[in-house]
Formats: sequence, structure tokens, C-alpha cells
Amino acid sequence: MNKFIIAGNWKMNTTITDGVEIAKNIALNVDQIANLKSKIIICPPFTHIYSIFKEVCKSKISVGAQNCYFEQKGAFTGEISVDMLKAVECQYIIVGHSERRLYFKESNSDINKKIKAILTNKLNTILCIGETLEQRKNGTTFDVLKKQLDECLADISEEEIKNIVIAYEPVWAIGTGVSASINEVKEAHDWMRSYFEKKYPNAGKDIYLLYGGSLNDKNAPEILAVENVNGGLIGGAALVPEKFLSIIDTAEKLSV
Ligand code: PEP
Repeated sequence: MNKFIIAGNWKMNTTITDGVEIAKNIALNVDQIANLKSKIIICPPFTHIYSIFKEVCKSKISVGAQNCYFEQKGAFTGEISVDMLKAVECQYIIVGHSERRLYFKESNSDINKKIKAILTNKLNTILCIGETLEQRKNGTTFDVLKKQLDECLADISEEEIKNIVIAYEPVWAIGTGVSASINEVKEAHDWMRSYFEKKYPNAGKDIYLLYGGSLNDKNAPEILAVENVNGGLIGGAALVPEKFLSIIDTAEKLSV
């Protein structure tokens, strides 16, 4: 079992040429780490996935997607199914990112259907949850997180949860350059751990709980050292190989 998962969410960035170069750079450097202890995932735009897979498939990097649709096929113009992502060698799929919830009106029930489709295809999910600034200010953070987890994970069994990684991403910290404080990270991750230990008595203690929201090379040593933080989901800094590699290096140092 890896101590940390370090995952990059590239969002809608890079041309395919630039994306392949970034992935190659990351893979080359990660492959030089003897005895790699962290799981490294990059989630580029859909159009880059297969080209990047072909570049990194012999490396220690896994490739993921940033979204999927829950239907298998049919008249759903513009959507991409889990089967299609599996066919291009995707191993992880991010669901429930706050940008999808906000701009594309994704509901917890949509996300639940996506997770079920991912499980059917035996791929891994990275489920994002997190409160807005308004919700944090009015003291409803943990009600919001509970509702998101209850509804997104409805009817997910103890066996199935082993294939799901959770990313706690306070919406107000995403892309703002201001991460949650160490106390806020600790409080949220301790809360999630106890939620999962109650809901899944066997698997709960081992579920990966990632932090996301302006995680970078500077704050990674403090954030990844927090108990119950099992890695990071990284946006902006994942597009800069030196920064992403520095976060990986921090994870490796904390793994010994
Ligand atoms: C994200 O988009 O998941 C994210 C955490 O972005 P950033 O690291 O840029 O805040």
C-alpha cells in the first residue's frame, strides 16, 4: 500500500504537444526515484489521455481522466463513457470536482451514478468534496461534507469503497493561491476519517483522503505531514514539472 497518492488535475490546460512533454518530463524524473513509495497519477484533458499513456506506460505514472458520463453509450452528444476511458487505458477518474458541480450543475446523485459506472468497469474513482466559503462562514462545513459523502456514496459497499479515493477540496482554496490552514486541513481530515471508520468499519481506516486547494511545492511539507492526509490533488502546480516533482519528493521523504 502506498503511503501517499499524488494526483495532478490539469483541468482544461495544455496543447497535446505541451501535455506530452510535461508528462514525459514528470515520468523521466519519477522513474529515477529508487523504491518509489507514492502513487503518482496525472489527469490530462480527454484528448491527451491516450498519447500520454503511450509515452508513460512503461513508467511508474498512472493516467486518469477528469470526468466521465454514467451511461455506457448512446445519444449523449459530447459525453465520454467510462468504457471509452478504459479503452484508452485510464485507471482513475475524478468525479465531483467543484468546477463541475458549479459550472455544469452536477448533483450528488449524478456523481453517485458516475461512481457506480466506474466501479462496474473496475476503474478507480477520485471523488472530490468540499464546502464553499459561504458554507464555511456560516458554520455548515461538516453538514455539507456529510451530505456530499452520504449522497455520492449511496449504496457503495465496503468492498467497493476500496476503489475510491476521496479528495477534500475546500472550494475557496481552489486556484486561489490560499490553501486551507493546517488546522482546517487537520479538522476536515480527522472528521472524514471518523466518518469512514463509522460507515465502513473494516475499510474506513485505509481510505485515501487527499487534500486539494492551492497545494504547492512550498506548503506540501506541512500539509502532507498532517495525520490523515494521504496525499494531494493538485491543479496549478501539477502543470509545472519542477513543482509537481517537488511535491512528490516531499511525499517520498515523509514516507520513510
Ligand atoms: C483542483 O483543481 O483540484 C485544485 C486543487 O486546483 P489548485 O491546486 O490549482 O488549487
